[in-house]
Amino acid sequence: MPTLSEYETWLTTEKGDPRGYIQPEKLDELWFHTGTNCNLRCPFCLEGSKPGDNRIEEISYAEAVRFIDEARDMEVKKFSFTGGEPFINRDFIRILDYALDYADCLVLTNATEPLMNRFAEILPLRDKQHSLNLRVSLDHPDPHLHDKMRGKGNFAKALRTLSRLHTAGFGVSIARLMSAGENSEEADKYYTPWLDEAGVPSDITIIKFPDFYRPGAMPEVPQITETCMTRFLNARQRSEFMCNFSKMVVKKNGIPGVFACTLVDDDDAYNLAPTLKEAMNVRVMLRHHRCYSCFAYGASCSEK
Ligand code: SF4
Repeated sequence: MPTLSEYETWLTTEKGDPRGYIQPEKLDELWFHTGTNCNLRCPFCLEGSKPGDNRIEEISYAEAVRFIDEARDMEVKKFSFTGGEPFINRDFIRILDYALDYADCLVLTNATEPLMNRFAEILPLRDKQHSLNLRVSLDHPDPHLHDKMRGKGNFAKALRTLSRLHTAGFGVSIARLMSAGENSEEADKYYTPWLDEAGVPSDITIIKFPDFYRPGAMPEVPQITETCMTRFLNARQRSEFMCNFSKMVVKKNGIPGVFACTLVDDDDAYNLAPTLKEAMNVRVMLRHHRCYSCFAYGASCSEK
């Protein structure tokens, strides 16, 4: 929770207006941050993930099980996992195996060596009670632009893995970066030849992300007031903010905490509580610069 000295900026904007907020309704989706350790070192990564990074620590099986059980009691509908690269986490397949007994799961992956090396371990998860969907990062439809950030050959690897996952019977989707002023529908169509090559339906979900900046960045964005939230958005739009229906478990300094959503783990003011039930009672103030992306673009990591 914010310290007293932060409290005023938590509740009000720089001009002293009441800050916009979301009062969470129901936990439909629980995210886990598996840790910022990653095999790649992408310069734009909103998590600052890279090889050996420990800003966010690996969640263990026992820690994840505690939150999965609590979420199950709250009738959660989905578990989602992001990193770093989740398949680097040593306990990750066990965590998935446990979670898939209770709800559908979504994993965000770069679909390179960490996943490829554990493919045989993943295959039995097809037989679980609930379904596993994997979202593969393909930043640009131009492989050269993708590889410029992610390393040579990684577009081809990710596309091959996408194809193998689909052929094996898993659900798949892709994530890409948005360009300023793009026509999103047109931009999505540039992926069609690659999806055809991978043998994946061209109407799969494509999640688009604006530039979220690096962890701790403080870009100037407009402040969101209470009035903005009611004047420019209706009740349905407000309900679609991730912090309304989801939370993310993040482990820092050896202690897992429940953060407001997937986008604010670089600001400990958003570490709402040690349990899900407590966290769902906390009003989320829209102070983080990424809150503006949710407000202006409807940015969301969810596939809800
Ligand atoms: S980044 Fe978006 S989902 Fe997260 S707390 Fe801000 S408004 Fe809510």
